[in-house]
Amino acid sequence: MADWFPFPQHLTEPHPGHEAHLCMAENLGFVKSNLEDYKKFVRDPQFLCKKCGRAAVKAENLCEPDKL
Ligand SMILES: [Zn+2]
Ligand SMILES: [Zn+2]
Repeated sequence: MADWFPFPQHLTEPHPGHEAHLCMAENLGFVKSNLEDYKKFVRDPQFLCKKCGRAAVKAENLCEPDKL
C-alpha cells in the first residue's frame, strides 16, 4: 500500500471516508507528485465515480462509486 494514501486523518466532510478517495488526492495535487503509485489504484478499474468520472480498482477510493 502507498505511504501517502489513504491520508491518515479521518475526514467527515464532505462525507466520511473522503481521506481514501482518489478524487481528493487529485484535488490536492497528489496525483502528479505520486503518479507511479497512483497508477496502482486505477489500473484495471472496477468502479467509476459518478461525481467526477474517475475510475478506480476499489469502490472505497471513490466518492460515488458505480460498478463498471
Ligand atoms: Zn470522484
Ligand atoms: Zn470523497
